[in-house]
Amino acid sequence: MKTVQLLDREFALSIPSETIQKEVKRVAGQINEELEGKNPIFLCVLNGAFMFASDLLRNITIPCEVSFVKLSSYSGIMSTGTVKEVIGLNEDIQGRTIVVIEDIIDTGLTIEKIMNSLQRFHPAEIKIASLLLKPEALQVNVPQDYIAIKIPNQFIVGYGLDYNGYGRNLTDIYTVIE
Ligand code: 5GP
Repeated sequence: MKTVQLLDREFALSIPSETIQKEVKRVAGQINEELEGKNPIFLCVLNGAFMFASDLLRNITIPCEVSFVKLSSYSGIMSTGTVKEVIGLNEDIQGRTIVVIEDIIDTGLTIEKIMNSLQRFHPAEIKIASLLLKPEALQVNVPQDYIAIKIPNQFIVGYGLDYNGYGRNLTDIYTVIE
């Protein structure tokens, strides 16, 4: 079993790079088809979504804009339950189709907060593209327009996602060994 050590924790390989790339391409294809003619603005939520956004957008072939926003809510391996505001939005999104690019939907509270935050600027519609979804962890109803991979309710790292700042550079996804 392939494992990595990050700080005080050991993680086991869970989703290999080839599977991630295949699913990311599938989602990009879906977006190309469904949002053709809508001139969407992709909003990549930093930091976790940077690698997903990069691979996803390489496979987007329709005209689009790309921008980056930030918020922070998570430290260590337990959600803190508090979510801050979206910051860094410089584009006028009124009347536009927005695609929020997220790393993972866990409880769904972050996406809910982002959507409420963006609604104030009156976009035409907000779509959600998330690399990962933990269906068993969901606490609120959130749109699941473009989900690449569904995973069990376990803490993962890699491909943009971190454990206390480490592991974002890994090209595969790893699950914490309890
Ligand atoms: P939610 O608000 O949906 O509970 O959590 C979303 C945020 O929590 C994600 O954007 C991510 O930053 C963080 N998160 C949730 N689950 C995990 C996980 O398994 N690993 C890592 N590294 N971050 C996670």
